Amino acid sequence: MGRTYLKHGALALMLGILLSACSGPSFNMFGGQSRDEVERNRWRDEAEMQCLGLKGAMVTAFVDRKAPINGPGVCGIRQPFSLSSVGMGLADIKPAATLNCQMVVAVQHWLRTVVQPAALIRFGQPVVEVKNIASYGCRTRNNERGAKLSEHSFGNAIDIAAFKLAGGREISVKDGWDSFFGISREAGFLRAVHRESCDIFTTVLGPESDRHHQDHLHLDLAQHNSQGTHYCK
Ligand SMILES: [Zn+2]
Repeated sequence: MGRTYLKHGALALMLGILLSACSGPSFNMFGGQSRDEVERNRWRDEAEMQCLGLKGAMVTAFVDRKAPINGPGVCGIRQPFSLSSVGMGLADIKPAATLNCQMVVAVQHWLRTVVQPAALIRFGQPVVEVKNIASYGCRTRNNERGAKLSEHSFGNAIDIAAFKLAGGREISVKDGWDSFFGISREAGFLRAVHRESCDIFTTVLGPESDRHHQDHLHLDLAQHNSQGTHYCK
């Protein structure tokens, strides 16, 4: 059963599929190349610079900074961060994720306000580790030749495969999403995280989106349109 949440207006459902994330077919606007492949969309730099201002700087103050990533092509991050834990060691991100400023702020907020409450409600214990299987990487969506660049190419996306609870139990998207017909505690936890992630990220893709997301949640901050539409499935 597919679920789609559209926020701040609609009409952009298909556009959302085409314009974001690690999914979607090739979409050519500029003589065979998408705009991102010709020049980096201005909103990316604006979002990053805004984040690196006072508010973002407070959130990222204790996060390791890395050297700028320039290219290949338009890929890269002006000021990349290596996010290895959230909440001063409250939960680890393993392995550490290379992300832009906006994603660092969003992932920290997500851990505190979405993941931990969902875990405490269902398991009575917090998540202590989040398994990251992809963050920055200069590549096309789903690594398909000719496809549009993925949000991962800008450090603007993360793929999460599993969560480990304080007691040691691991809840993976691959095994937990449909466990006991999708109504187990694990499934309830994963589905709640997926659903509520849509409040924070502009793209959320899980096992019900397509065959490329059977074992992880893709979370990104793509700008789908000027209305700020969120695409979550
Ligand atoms: Zn992804």
